[in-house]
Amino acid sequence: MKLLTADELVQMVSAIFTANGMSPTNAAAVANVVMMAERDASFSHGLFRIPAYVSTLKSGHVDGRAVPVVTDAAPSVVRVDAGNGFAQPAIEAGRHLLLQKARQTGLASMAIHNSHHFAALWPDVETFAEEGMVALAFVNSRMRIAPWDAPRRLIGTNPMAFACPRQDAPPLVWDQASSVMAQGAVLIAAREGRQLDEGVVIDAKGQPTTDPNDLQAGGALRSFGTHKGSSIALMVEVLAAALTGANFGFEDSESEARGSATQNAGELIMVIDPKTFGSSNLAVRVSALLAHLQSGGVSRLPSESRHKARIANGNGIPVSEELYAQLSAMAGQAE
Ligand code: NDP
Repeated sequence: MKLLTADELVQMVSAIFTANGMSPTNAAAVANVVMMAERDASFSHGLFRIPAYVSTLKSGHVDGRAVPVVTDAAPSVVRVDAGNGFAQPAIEAGRHLLLQKARQTGLASMAIHNSHHFAALWPDVETFAEEGMVALAFVNSRMRIAPWDAPRRLIGTNPMAFACPRQDAPPLVWDQASSVMAQGAVLIAAREGRQLDEGVVIDAKGQPTTDPNDLQAGGALRSFGTHKGSSIALMVEVLAAALTGANFGFEDSESEARGSATQNAGELIMVIDPKTFGSSNLAVRVSALLAHLQSGGVSRLPSESRHKARIANGNGIPVSEELYAQLSAMAGQAE
């Protein structure tokens, strides 16, 4: 097992991305969220995703050299055209203005369109909570959910994330797909030969199955919480796509692009300054609420497992020798 520093891991992943056509700036922004996922043991969005990023770049479906265009659209709205590139460079480009507007107006939003989001969402909100803000993010993604009682995929796994500050602790963050399980986690189960619980996936004929391979063979994920999760997936599609001017999953012109794992879609990030809303001590109040929950029997809070992994990996992020060799070889490839 090798232990890599965060910088070493970002550099290695950036080298793979630039070798496959990304600009150095874009590669660094995307490599950073891959590193954060691996560091925090969010494995379904860490190094596991590299081959899919590469095949998406090679398919030409996404522009690795895109330069996001930021528009100051209103006193509380930042609009970003990601230029058919990944969402992370777009977020970087608009982040400062969004934070400034949230501080000025109390509640500001960033509407990103023409973008590809293939990462975990918590990095998109956690940094705002570290600045004392409350933040929400919504992303629409490639069609993989069969909503309500439908027998086939119609809507994205549409993740959403929430972050708020806590007293004397890292922000409280939750980040979840609208599906019972994220697609990446199903792919990992398939790779490891594990069966799924019932109710996670249906097969290509619309029948319940516990075989994770059925998802890739034309099946679909179910939304969490039956009809309630389907309604949330619908809301995310409206907020992330219809509101921002992005494509719905079913409108993606290249939805079947060979080798492409992402969809040309959108993201909405909302940032709230608690002070403007009358809360001078939000972090203290949140911590009091969490203490109440814990004293009432809650044994694990969202973001807890990530924070534990982050501390455990403080002296280095473990990467197996085999994976390290694979990544090194990929980083050495010529464009
Ligand atoms: P999980 O179900 O693994 O976790 C969802 C949230 O619940 C996390 O915040 C997690 O905290 C928390 N949690 C997990 N178990 C418990 C528990 N027992 N008690 C309390 N809280 C708990 O996530 P999903 O499978 O839904 O999604 C995985 C990832 O996939 C997300 O990061 C999501 O953004 C990403 N995704 C990205 C898409 C894209 O298009 N970019 C599409 C769909 C998903 P903790 O962090 O501590 O584990």
